[in-house]
Amino acid sequence: MLVEIAIGDAYGAGFEFCERPKIAQYNDLTAYQQHYLGMPAGSYTDDTQMSIAIAELLLDRLDWSPANIADGFVRAFKRDKRLGYAKGLYQLLSDVADGAALLAILRPDSSRNGAAMRSVPLGLVKDQQTMEQQCRVQAQLTHNTPEGVVSAMAVAYASHYLVYQLGPVAQLTTFVSEKTKHAWRNDWDAEVECDGIQTVHAVMTVMSQHRSYAEILRHSVALGGDVDSVAAIALGLASLSTAYQSDLPEHLYTGLEQGRYGMSYLRELDARLSAQFGLPLLAGNS
Ligand SMILES: [Mg+2]
Repeated sequence: MLVEIAIGDAYGAGFEFCERPKIAQYNDLTAYQQHYLGMPAGSYTDDTQMSIAIAELLLDRLDWSPANIADGFVRAFKRDKRLGYAKGLYQLLSDVADGAALLAILRPDSSRNGAAMRSVPLGLVKDQQTMEQQCRVQAQLTHNTPEGVVSAMAVAYASHYLVYQLGPVAQLTTFVSEKTKHAWRNDWDAEVECDGIQTVHAVMTVMSQHRSYAEILRHSVALGGDVDSVAAIALGLASLSTAYQSDLPEHLYTGLEQGRYGMSYLRELDARLSAQFGLPLLAGNS
């Protein structure tokens, strides 16, 4: 799961808000592209780092309090600073010493996709009420708007539906729409802004229209715009269900960053999550 989130993120990051010709020329899964911020090809961004933070919080089994969650975000950032965060949040995370300090200065009024992009791991929480509550608390920390929260909830419910096999994939959008009381689309075909609602429309679209990791990844990027978030969420979701064929080229696995918090670390977290939640190994190709 985290491995696939990172692959979607790192591949998508090379195309995030890029010009159309770059997508037309290079979106064929043959290579990671360099990110416009200058990160080396194969590096993941904030989407994965914050998903790691959520995964670690689930593994730590601490109280699901805003202070602990904020601590988790600050810790994941400080030990491995990386670009890709919204400018304001990057500065805040750099400035603060811990979660309490972050909470004291954060203005959580964003309706962007920052809460949604880190919500795939929350679907592993078996009890739906607990999952909803945990998802809401973490979303409200940074995105305390109806759009910020409902987009995060949609991602968590999609993850939950797939990992616990609650029904056929063809019913995914219907299930998530009912649970979140929001009409999600599976025919999104416009460029995706850095916006929670649009991001989930795009994710539902690629999850509904394809049954293969490779097609999901290509389509996510082909939409244009904030494609690393769409690709990260969608590939993470796909990895939770055997209904999706694990058919990414091997070099996307071997080419993913290998540092302290790279591929091995992501695999290790996936394995620990699998054990904790009693689920089959959470990665198609691990
Ligand atoms: Mg990103």
